[in-house]
Amino acid sequence: SREWHLVARPQGWPEPADFALVETEVPEPGPGQILVRNSFLSVDPYMRGRMNDVKSYAPPYELGKPMLGGAVGRVVASAADGIAVGDHVLHGLAWREYALLDAAHAVVVDPEAAPLPAYLGVLGMTGLTAYAGLLRVARFAEGETVFVSGAAGAVGSQVGQIARLKGAARVVGSAGSDEKAALLVDEYGFDAAFNYKKAPVAEQLRAAAPDGIDVYFDNVGGEHLEAAIGALRVHGRAALCGAIAQYNATEPPPGPRNLGLLIGKRLTLAGFLVTDHQDLQPEFVREVGGWLREGRLRYRETVVTGIEHTLDAFLGLLRGENTGKMVVALPE
Ligand code: NDP
Repeated sequence: SREWHLVARPQGWPEPADFALVETEVPEPGPGQILVRNSFLSVDPYMRGRMNDVKSYAPPYELGKPMLGGAVGRVVASAADGIAVGDHVLHGLAWREYALLDAAHAVVVDPEAAPLPAYLGVLGMTGLTAYAGLLRVARFAEGETVFVSGAAGAVGSQVGQIARLKGAARVVGSAGSDEKAALLVDEYGFDAAFNYKKAPVAEQLRAAAPDGIDVYFDNVGGEHLEAAIGALRVHGRAALCGAIAQYNATEPPPGPRNLGLLIGKRLTLAGFLVTDHQDLQPEFVREVGGWLREGRLRYRETVVTGIEHTLDAFLGLLRGENTGKMVVALPE
């Protein structure tokens, strides 16, 4: 069995030398445990933060230990009641081929109800992030105009579509290429989209939403956040989900220069973590699952194959090589 270890803490952009792919023995389950052959691993932007040795909402990855993250796989040995060999489970011990864990830390999933990688994306953590962030944190209401950054990614593409399905007046997205911007309009039904690399965000946002916006869903931070604060209307809200533009920064980035606008416009900027909104899971699965079955919500995945390419997949995610959820497939 092979697994990825963090061996040095990255400074700025992670380097291959910060990681090692290590060969280990496949363990046997003890009482209450299961052994899982992972089928799909999730790579996520938050993992960059856990590579730093700083106190945060998730503990830092330990040096010389396996990287952790979401995975789905097949149970190949079980010494636990309630989970049998052949069951499929979702768990948190990724970046490895085989995972040994207490059955209590696994959630059984149904590969007939949805393809396995969907449990990492559209029906999983990133999907719930979009759902909770837009509907609960940003308090989106029908008839409002929504702007979302990182809009061709896993979270962002779902935010824009949920806003549309819930009756947004206008949905605007930004992404890092002309192809991605076209996809937002043509496939996901956004009203307008732009390539943030082409011209200043504030200028392109003004053209795409001339009457301003009511809700901003922030996946990026930096210039995007400042532009959105400028475009928000009175009583507007921003859900601060991520700030991927600065995850590899070595110095704290400058803040938005226009925070003074929050007062006169009575704006609310609210940071949030998906982990605080697990109570929405049943409602989320019911509603998004329904839209998927009816073909009203679409999603893409970027699948990289092979445990040896997990680091490439993660770095590719930070560089924007993905459209939709980035996952690593581990064929048997
Ligand atoms: P994505 O699928 O959106 O992948 C990341 C994307 O970020 C890339 O595809 C790239 O797209 C974009 N990106 C990279 N660098 C920049 C940059 N400098 N400026 C603008 N965009 C950039 O990942 P996720 O959907 O998994 O995550 C999206 C965001 O949500 C992240 O910030 C993440 O940390 C956050 N998040 C927060 C959670 C929470 O609980 N608060 C939970 C899950 C995710 P492009 O080609 O368009 O540049």
